[in-house]
Parts: sequence; C-alpha cells; structure tokens
Amino acid sequence: MKKVIIYVLMSFSLVGCSLDPSNAEKEQPEETPVSSQVSGDEVEKEEPASSVPQNDSEDESSEQSEQTNDDVVARDGTVTVNNPESLNVVVNKERKLPSNYIPEDLTVPDVPFSFSEFAPKKQMRKEAAQALEELFTAAQQDGLDLVAASGYRSYDRQKQIYDRNVDVYGKEETDKFSARPGTSEHQTGLAMDVTSAQMAFKLNQSFGKTDEGEWLAEHAHEYGFVIRYIKGSEDITGYTYEPWHLRYVGKQYSTDVYEQELTLEEFFGFHPVSE
Ligand SMILES: [Zn+2]
Repeated sequence: MKKVIIYVLMSFSLVGCSLDPSNAEKEQPEETPVSSQVSGDEVEKEEPASSVPQNDSEDESSEQSEQTNDDVVARDGTVTVNNPESLNVVVNKERKLPSNYIPEDLTVPDVPFSFSEFAPKKQMRKEAAQALEELFTAAQQDGLDLVAASGYRSYDRQKQIYDRNVDVYGKEETDKFSARPGTSEHQTGLAMDVTSAQMAFKLNQSFGKTDEGEWLAEHAHEYGFVIRYIKGSEDITGYTYEPWHLRYVGKQYSTDVYEQELTLEEFFGFHPVSE
C-alpha cells in the first residue's frame, strides 16, 4: 500500500500543461488528498495529477477510424496524427501533434480572463473562440461568472518547459509530471481551461462542484464543447477528472459525446467503449 501511495505521489502529470520550475514546483496541493489530485492544467500553483498510463495498444488500430489511416506510428508506439487541423482530432499521450503544427486562425476570444496582459495562451482557433464567447454569454445570462485561464500553447513553449524540467529533474522524473511536447491538447487551439473568481482563478477539481462547474458539465455541449477529462475515465484519457478543461469539437459531436457519456477516445474509435 505504501508503495502504491508513493508511486501515486510521484506520478504527477500535466495535460500538456506547463510545469515551469520557475513558478510551479512539484509541490503537493496543500489540502487535496492524493486520490483527488488533478492534473493542474497551467495552474500557477501546481495541482499535479496522478496519471494513469494508457497501456492498451488498440488505440492505434488502423481500422477503427479514418483518422488513423495515415497516422505515422513511431517505434515506441506513439502516433503522430495526420489531421491536426481537424475539429475532431484526438490528441493524448499516445497521439501527438506534429511539432510544426501551429493553428492558422488563432484569435483571442472576447471573454474575461484571469489576467489582463496579452499572452499566447489567451488564443483559440477562430471557430472555437466564437463558440466560447457564446458559451460565456449564456453562462453570464444565468448569473454565472466564468473566467478563461489558458488556451493555446505552442509546441515550442511546451518543449521549452519540458526541456527545462529535464535539465532540473532528469528525464525519468520529468516524465512523471510534465507533458511531452506534442501531447498537449492545448496545442490544437481548441482547448480552454476555465475557472471562476470563487476558485480564486485556480484549476482544481473542486471547480466541478461550483455553480459554474455544474453549469459547464450540463451546458458546454450546447456550444460545441466537451469536458474532455470526465470522471472515471482516467484509464482511457490518461488523465484524471478536469472539470475546467473544455475542448471544442463542434455542436454535433459535442452533443453526441455528451449524450452517450463517452470520452473522445471512445467516441472517435481509439478505445473500445467501456460498459
Ligand atoms: Zn487544459
């Protein structure tokens, strides 16, 4: 048991989220028990997650989806996706974006942010940004107070963070808590982490229990977004529950995914549908 706890403690992981030694140490959250740690998406105050590595190789089955047909499979089993610009691209620890992929239509959505100055992470792809604006307007009309925290993150930025962590902690240790470049959904420009003043703008699982978090879980799909890392799907997505991480897929898919209560991996055929 002790070993398991130690392992979990050490298995920090970030959803492509930066763990920057300069401002986010490998510290444990003060109050969060290990079992409910989150993956700390671009949190200022690191909220590390215990990651559950995906170990099924079925994800790469080339028959499951047209998306996989031209994907490039590396020797270590990781796949470089061939459709980075698709609204239904599935990116995870095994399915990387090309290192040179930069969305062409990045723009800053007109929504409140948790910081005022421009930063690349304010950006999303145009269609996703417009959808986010609609979502924020609707939430506001329901008396809620959503705040955007982190959207686009470039491959280079993720690499910088990862490499710096390798310098400081070594590769083996770094892989336990810092996402490798290319594996972050934030590089698609289709993801945005959202939070609220009530959360003191932090990204934490308790957000799911706030009015804002509950509203998102119920309504995000109406605007084309899915809660990408849902509860109980760690073994499929590779990440623990993240009520704050919105991923744009367009209204039709988001509604289907919501109604069928599936992960994107299952919905797009990269993982067998769980019972
Ligand atoms: Zn995120």
